[in-house]
Amino acid sequence: MEKNAAVLIPCDSYETETLDAAMRQLTDRLGGLDWVKPGMRIGIKLNLCGGFKPERAATTHPAAAAALTRLLTARGASVVWGDAPGEPFSPLVVGRIYHTCRLEEPCTASGGELNRNYESQTVQYPEAKVLKQFTLASWIAQCDAVISFCKLKAHGLVSMTAAVKNTFGIIPGTLKSELHFRYSDRADFADLLVDLNEYLKPVWYLCDAVEIMEGNGPTQGTPRHLGVLTGGTDPYRLDRLHAWLLGVEESALTYLEAAKRRGLLPAEGGPDSREAAEAYRLTDFVRSGATSSWFLPDPQDSKIRRTLKDGLSLLLRSDPALGEGCVGCGHCRDLCPAGAIRIEKDKAKIKRSKCVHCFCCQEFCPTGAMKVRRSFIARLIQKE
Ligand code: SF4
Ligand code: SF4
Repeated sequence: MEKNAAVLIPCDSYETETLDAAMRQLTDRLGGLDWVKPGMRIGIKLNLCGGFKPERAATTHPAAAAALTRLLTARGASVVWGDAPGEPFSPLVVGRIYHTCRLEEPCTASGGELNRNYESQTVQYPEAKVLKQFTLASWIAQCDAVISFCKLKAHGLVSMTAAVKNTFGIIPGTLKSELHFRYSDRADFADLLVDLNEYLKPVWYLCDAVEIMEGNGPTQGTPRHLGVLTGGTDPYRLDRLHAWLLGVEESALTYLEAAKRRGLLPAEGGPDSREAAEAYRLTDFVRSGATSSWFLPDPQDSKIRRTLKDGLSLLLRSDPALGEGCVGCGHCRDLCPAGAIRIEKDKAKIKRSKCVHCFCCQEFCPTGAMKVRRSFIARLIQKE
């Protein structure tokens, strides 16, 4: 059976019958399930960026994960669902997230289990470009095979989060903030994401794009109906398809540019499955901010070009900015890897000179008060 790098299957709702039919079709297009053997332990790496009800479209929908699990357990596999959100990787925090995301019942009913292993381990990856040694969640390391099952969303730091970015969740909890700090250069962070994908090599990358998120993503944006499931064996080709669907230029996706530089994605070329995807393409997707990867340093750049890029990127850079609704909870202060936030008179205050632009504060603000603010010049140029 043919293994497709990136395919799109219509799926209009999270109704069980609709999902089961779409998931069967999708897994067939990815080469079928013959690789699944009785007793095999398969980890489904969801996107659980926090405790959000499924209708918020911030996390992989449990009904979609259940449809996949039914197919795998019918073949005798043991299936575990998990993720390591940006908060402490502990039974209390992750248990609350499972509960709010309403995972327990669909997971158990489909024959799966929720991960309860909160240990981590250090691994060496000498072939990596930047991440030659790192700590990853043990539950994922102990699986015989991994399927990544992400959600398609707008993202403040990397413009769009889907297949490639989902793999960052194998780093346990707050260690992610440390990596943001250590690799605050956007080009390095993009290489880190590629390193993680090349290390983990999930069998499949699936994406829940039945309801996606636009606007103040990846946690506080607005749900929008797209009505598809996507999947593939190649995260870069799959995210090329996602970018095309949302009308996001590839040059804005630093991790795709990094994959191109490493020969993992052809520099040119349209998305796979373009014909099937045409009817779902958006022309008015609302983004979360971020700056084009054109501004990233490239070793081939001349000195003049480098100076020009540095100057322009400063002028066009997005910043975290406090909007309405801050309750002074201090969550952003506790997560900020640069120690750039303090709480004054029950409101968050950012010390700009310390900020490394990781957008963790925006991603994890529980009220949506922290936003991505595009620079005045960027707004002027793009007339938005
Ligand atoms: S910005 Fe958000 S996370 Fe930070 S203190 Fe205000 S409400 Fe809490
Ligand atoms: S202020 Fe926000 S964007 Fe800046 S370093 Fe802290 S968490 Fe990251």
